[in-house]
Amino acid sequence: MRMNYKYEMFPNEEQRQTMDRWLSICRQQYNSALLDKQRFYQKNKTGLSRHALQKQQTKDKQRFELLKPIPSQPLQEVLFRLEKAYKNFFEGRARYPKIKKHKDYTSMTFTQFGVEKRKVKNKKTGDVHVRDVRYAASLDENNHLLISKLGSVYVNFHRPIEGKVKQVSIKRQGHRWFAIFSVERHVNETVDFPVQSTGVDVGIHKFAVLSDGTNVENPRFLLKAEKKLKRAQKKLSRMTQGSNNWKKQRQNVQQLHIKIANQRRDFLHKRSYHLSKMYKVVFVEDLKIQNMVKNRHLAKSIHDAGWGAFCRKLEYKCNNNGGTLVKIKAHYTSQDCSSCGKRVKKALSVRTHVCKSCGTVLDRDHNAAINIEKVGRDLLGLCPTV
Ligand SMILES: [Zn+2]
Repeated sequence: MRMNYKYEMFPNEEQRQTMDRWLSICRQQYNSALLDKQRFYQKNKTGLSRHALQKQQTKDKQRFELLKPIPSQPLQEVLFRLEKAYKNFFEGRARYPKIKKHKDYTSMTFTQFGVEKRKVKNKKTGDVHVRDVRYAASLDENNHLLISKLGSVYVNFHRPIEGKVKQVSIKRQGHRWFAIFSVERHVNETVDFPVQSTGVDVGIHKFAVLSDGTNVENPRFLLKAEKKLKRAQKKLSRMTQGSNNWKKQRQNVQQLHIKIANQRRDFLHKRSYHLSKMYKVVFVEDLKIQNMVKNRHLAKSIHDAGWGAFCRKLEYKCNNNGGTLVKIKAHYTSQDCSSCGKRVKKALSVRTHVCKSCGTVLDRDHNAAINIEKVGRDLLGLCPTV
């Protein structure tokens, strides 16, 4: 399985400018490919493939000086991103791809990494010998990140990378730069879990509720930080655009955004880590986040809580730890009684489940979590818990 390791990198001023330039070239490539696809579709009523775009890019590289100083891997990868954006749109996971602005395009990816031994055949003599091939991104002898046409950059490896690096992305966040290593790792098979399974229900007031009744509280720091962000944005809007103070304040706003994102990620990592250690099988409801976000009232809390991001983290952590995350398609999990199965219809505002036939009284989300676990265990053929 793939895992990401993120480290801060410390480029010099010249490298910084170069990477900024590369990012803007990648962004232009993305946008022009998007426009090409749209134009092609209008004319021919059929899609323009990545393969065709790739051919065009190769031609452009010979024609335009601008494209020459940048390594070809990140340029090619731009087209993969666009392809993925379309795929996500067609499969209902995302909106139609948009033209990317400067602030939206912050990373580029080197799809191969390191030094690899390769067999090379001498055409004249027919001899085969092994030669080292260094990709556009690798580590040099000082353990610095070596990128072709950029040079070597110091990276603060604050924790060791476990596994084989498959690719590396370079990301700009505010005025800082990060290297994200994508690593192939083997799954740890022999683990003892304290509990066999649990169901998790997304709360609205709480972040999540487990089927044993445990509450995972919503992170309040986000609301606090958001207030601060609003104030900073208001201050920015009152300043003269382009002035030195405006630039400074804009950076403050960016930093606040990053801080919020970091806090959120940290919260999600800790929560999902804990669950993946505790339970062998974790059942969650397969929510269509897109549909739920359409409901205005729910939208904010879902976005804040980052349920989708949480499930992704939980899934790979479970896998990595020898457990499983199972998404179940459950209907009426919040309506049905978890004890006798009778359907008790209730509005979203009703927070307590009260069953008149068997007398069960439970928190609404707790009742739903028990149902999710039940449906899941049934699906996997495990014996019922209670
Ligand atoms: Zn009941």
